[in-house]
Amino acid sequence: MTSSTAVSAATPLARMADAGWVSPTSVPGLIGYTPKFESVLESLQTALTALDPHGLGGPVQHAPVVPRETIERAQYAESFPHLLGTVHAYASAEQATAPSASQRELTDVVLAPAACYSVYPQIADRTLDLEQHFDVFGYCYRHEATSEYGRFRSFRMREFVIVGGQEPAWEWREAWIERCEGLFARLGLKIAVVAASDPFFGPGDRFMRASQLQQSLKFEFVAPVHARDEGTAIASANCHKDHLGERFAIRFAEMGVAHSSCMAFGLERVVSALIQAHGDDLANWPEPV
Ligand code: ATP
Ligand code: ZN
Ligand code: MG
Repeated sequence: MTSSTAVSAATPLARMADAGWVSPTSVPGLIGYTPKFESVLESLQTALTALDPHGLGGPVQHAPVVPRETIERAQYAESFPHLLGTVHAYASAEQATAPSASQRELTDVVLAPAACYSVYPQIADRTLDLEQHFDVFGYCYRHEATSEYGRFRSFRMREFVIVGGQEPAWEWREAWIERCEGLFARLGLKIAVVAASDPFFGPGDRFMRASQLQQSLKFEFVAPVHARDEGTAIASANCHKDHLGERFAIRFAEMGVAHSSCMAFGLERVVSALIQAHGDDLANWPEPV
């Protein structure tokens, strides 16, 4: 075997490790990130803060777990039962050591599947006067069935969120799509913006998927995150309609049930797309990142 065949046979993860970006673990989809990788992720965070038109000054950092009742209220597990990671523990030290110690029990928290679930409970069960804007960041977990490079189980998400009227929520999302196209172009990424059918609410059957696609409720920004990748969603722009407003009982005096939208960035995927576009040597990267 020549050395060039050996290089091309390396997995994308092994290649990223060799180039000093990541530190794999024994578990698929779970990896550590080096200072070299983190330096790019930090610059990206700064660029996203600068992009925020509402001047929120940076993200609120949330814990990697959220109250289980939040996820139940949002009906997340009804759409994605297979992706949700739960936290189990003994109720007490005595219970753990008792001769009859049984299984650990479900606790009152679950692993956050997306950053924006920390937002809605903050304004639940009330009537608002003004539309609300949020900038949030947190570690997320999804029990993904596959683990190709870019589909991680633990990853970080930055999200901008609006809770407002139907039209403002729609227009906010349209403006974010344009803003993102500009950002990714400045960062030297070639992106395809595609309508996606992943249901993010509702029962997730074929009818629901088709109707979400037809209503253009979700757009993904797609770019290769490694050499053999045909395209991975590095960000998504989502309209929730009034689903979360309903579920969390958020209303406006004038406009009725709140609508919401979120603009979500998969930070490790964006950084990986930048590495794929600009190479392993940061000294050769174009300025803006
Ligand atoms: P995909 O179609 O790749 O499964 P998704 O539709 O599940 O993505 P969203 O729920 O829209 O993704 O999540 C927002 C963003 O979080 C995605 O655009 C992506 O950048 C990132 N993301 C989602 N799942 C993962 C994952 N398993 N590993 C890394 N990043 C992810
Ligand atoms: Zn979201
Ligand atoms: Mg997914």
